[in-house]
Amino acid sequence: MARRDAILDAVVEADRLHKEFATQARAERGEGRIDVFGMLVRRDIPVMVRPLRGLLGAYIDNPDRGVIVTSQRPLPVQRFTAAHEFGHAALGHTASLDEEDILMGAPFVTDGSPDLQEVQANAFASQLLTPSWLIVQHMKRQGWTRDHLTDPLVVYQLALRMGSSFAATCYALAESKGIDKPTCERLLKIRPKTIKQSLAKPYAPQTWYGDVWLVTERDHGLVLEGSRTDLVVLKFQEHASSGYIWQFGALAEVGFAIVNDGRAASGGKAHIGGVVSRTVIAEPQDGASGHVCLREVRPWQDAGEPLQSLELDVNLSGPVPAGLLAAQRVKLLGVA
Ligand SMILES: [Zn+2]
Repeated sequence: MARRDAILDAVVEADRLHKEFATQARAERGEGRIDVFGMLVRRDIPVMVRPLRGLLGAYIDNPDRGVIVTSQRPLPVQRFTAAHEFGHAALGHTASLDEEDILMGAPFVTDGSPDLQEVQANAFASQLLTPSWLIVQHMKRQGWTRDHLTDPLVVYQLALRMGSSFAATCYALAESKGIDKPTCERLLKIRPKTIKQSLAKPYAPQTWYGDVWLVTERDHGLVLEGSRTDLVVLKFQEHASSGYIWQFGALAEVGFAIVNDGRAASGGKAHIGGVVSRTVIAEPQDGASGHVCLREVRPWQDAGEPLQSLELDVNLSGPVPAGLLAAQRVKLLGVA
């Protein structure tokens, strides 16, 4: 089979799974990332997460099929690896041991891998996790135009919402012609740490290993899925002169501590309409998970109708720990 046909077949299979799992409708509700682990669970393909020497993942097909994913990498790498191994399963491939250089190349543009199975599994993983329609959906929700995609901060926030690495997102944008090649190359040279620092200012966590989410009113319904070391910067418009104040107490209930809280004139025009920009930085204490509903209310009418509200499904427990996936322990073994 020619390389081009092989890639096309993989893309068609990923698109078929998007339909089967109604991922587009879920993304429209705000979910943000494609739930690749959830898809593997529903397909009854066992996923074992464990330390792996020299490998990111593996696919086994004998006697039963199953997927192995490293426990030693950040969540976006685990997700891409799981999607790559899912590709081997969905495309009926033979067993595969996957080293870093197989998975981490630009999926469509490198010619390094002579193995069509691997080319196909990477094309499948990209189409599953970062399809063009998902990028467009995030752009619409956030009010981003193509010009915004040259901004590393925007690309970084897009990557977090899709559960993909910064580099994988740059490649996906280049592949879908959202950015041109020189822009892609320029973005790939930027260290995510500098983006994180500018987002978290004035706060500095103990390490910059985690990601920094910038959440606004546009993120209603978002599945905020990341790691225990991530920071969440919430930046909301607050109508203080009308007595409305955003309440952030619900963050503590799912495991966050508020490490910074400030107000600034919104767009330098605080006196017009009395709208201020409220910025709260939340840090998970020991991971954070649960449903959060944040409301902008008049404090003396706490039970009253909020002026604005925002719901998030927080799961900052990554990376996925060693063992069988929690959802599969229940399904396959009958134990929690
Ligand atoms: Zn592979």
